[in-house]
Parts: sequence; C-alpha cells; structure tokens
Amino acid sequence: MTTKTKIIDGNAFSARLRDTLTQKVHEMRDSHHVTPGLAVVLVGEDPASQVYVRTKHKRTIEVGMKSFMHTLPADTPEHELLTLIAGLNKDPEVHGILVQLPVPKHIDSQKIIEAIDPAKDVDGFHPINVGRLASGGEGMVPCTPLGSMMLLKDCLGKLGGLDAVVIGRSNIVGKPMAHLLLKESCTVTIAHSQTRDLPEVVRRADIVVAAVGKAEMVRGDWLKPGCTVIDVGINRIELPDGTKKLVGDVAFDEAVKVAGAITPVPGGVGPMTIAVLLRNTLVAAARLHNLPDPGV
Ligand code: NAP
Repeated sequence: MTTKTKIIDGNAFSARLRDTLTQKVHEMRDSHHVTPGLAVVLVGEDPASQVYVRTKHKRTIEVGMKSFMHTLPADTPEHELLTLIAGLNKDPEVHGILVQLPVPKHIDSQKIIEAIDPAKDVDGFHPINVGRLASGGEGMVPCTPLGSMMLLKDCLGKLGGLDAVVIGRSNIVGKPMAHLLLKESCTVTIAHSQTRDLPEVVRRADIVVAAVGKAEMVRGDWLKPGCTVIDVGINRIELPDGTKKLVGDVAFDEAVKVAGAITPVPGGVGPMTIAVLLRNTLVAAARLHNLPDPGV
C-alpha cells in the first residue's frame, strides 16, 4: 500500500450519518409532532434475510423512528401480502415500506414492488422512482447506490468530468449507480457479463464501482493508478483451512497498491445501506407531511 491510499471507512461514515439522522428525527418530532415510521415485511424464514431484518429493526429504533415488523410464513398467498401492503400504504404512522427480497417463488416480486405507494417506497425500486432517477427528478433512490455515492462525494468532492465504470447492470445496484454518476456529470460506462476486454475498459476509469457478485474478480493490474474503487460485492469464500471469509468483487490486497482510495469488504459500502434506508424514511416522512427537506 502506498502511504497515499485512502481506505474509505463506511463504518465511520454510516455511524456519523445515523447520528445526524437521530438529531433530525428528534427535531421533526419536537417541532412538527411527526415520528418517521418504517415498516419492514419479511415473507419466509431465509436466515440471511432474518438477520438483515433484525438489524434494520434495531437501527430504526436507535435513531428514534418507529419500526413496524411484519413476519409472514413462507406459504403466504400473494393476495395476502398485497392486502398488507395496501394497509401500510394507508397507515399514517408508516412513511417507509420495505419488502425484504427475495420473496418466495410463488410471489411475483415486481407486482409487490409496484403495489407499494411510490412516496413510501424507501428502497426506490418502484417504476415511478426508477423513472424519476433516470429523468433527473426527485424520487426515492435505492439505498446501496446512494450510499456508494455519498462515500464517493465525501472522498472526491466534485465528480464532474471523471470517467466512471460501473461493473454490473442490476436494477438494485448497477443501473441506479450509473444514473447517479451521470447526474454528477461523470462520463459513465456500464460493463456486464458480455463486455469485451473488461480489464481494458476498467483501466480507463477514474472511478470503478464493482457490483458483480464474483469474489475478487477485479485485479490490481486492471486499475488506473490513483483511481477510486467502490466495491459493492459481498462474497463468502472458504479459505484452505476451512474458515469462511467475506470478500468483495475486487482483489483488495492488489488493488490497494494501485488505487488512490478504496472501500474494504467488510466495512465499506455494506454499512451504508441501512443508514441510507433510514435517511430515505426520514425524507419520505418530510415529503408526506409537507415539511422542509431534512437536508441529509
Ligand atoms: P446481480 O443482480 O447478480 O447482478 C450482477 C451483475 O454483474 C450483472 O449485471 C451481470 O451481468 C454482471 N456480471 C456477472 N458476471 C460478470 C463478469 N464476469 N464480468 C462482468 N460483469 C459480470 O447482482 P447485484 O444484486 O447487483 O449485486 C452485486 C453484488 O453486490 C453482490 O455481491 C451482492 O451481494 C452485492 N450487494 C451488496 C449490497 C450492500 O449492501 N453492500 C447490496 C446489494 C448487493 P449480466 O447483466 O450481463 O448478467
């Protein structure tokens, strides 16, 4: 590692963001008698989803918001989930609704996403919010890309004119990330599984965002010296001694010798996602009650 390489600390940034949110939640409650509320719906017993949902509940309470948990059995019929969402859409105490994905196979996830009131869609997956992001409007932005953008801006300041390469084109990370970078006037390339000569494409980038889901795919010699690397990937690998380890989509030990700044895994983008979910809930509460933008 050169002495100049900055390790972007998502744990510290997200802790600061949650402190700011706690303060803003109290201000909203004291000045306007509104307490932001987040409803999280989990269908089924997927262990990873159960952990995410429990962490979301804990963090929601910590910042002073109301948390409404709905845990439904795996065989819940689709129409029952839609009825629950319709109720949450009308509930004045609920400002954000999140249905933990993936849902069981017999439920159409797109139908569920489209049933959520776009004003309460704190995941930013509803087509109205997707369209607003793409057309530069004021919608709800998906949490992981927005968290990644917050880290980038904190690290680099203005991004205008920089070459950015996003590897991955999912609706959850890759595409919204590309729109956010375009909004900041980067020159954006979206790479995917059919991109020809990916290393050469990545080599032109001042900013590399890796959202692939393939352990340590991006090598150090793919990177332009001094570039900024945002590693969204979360991959569990098994080491030769049988122990398990979390790694990103970027070979960190190689990349850290070339990049100017890089997010580690874990401790980079990961902790930002829930903090931004709470930020989106606060913003949704302000908009639903016609209050000033909380400015976070
Ligand atoms: P996804 O829906 O599976 O999308 C993966 C993308 O990577 C696809 O667009 C795919 O291209 C592309 N890809 C696959 N193999 C490739 C290759 N060899 N070269 C170039 N591109 C390739 O995944 P996702 O939901 O976006 O998630 C990506 C990663 O981020 C995962 O590790 C996930 O766990 C992690 N993640 C982290 C957070 C967080 O909170 N930090 C949140 C969400 C996701 P095609 O479209 O051509 O198939």
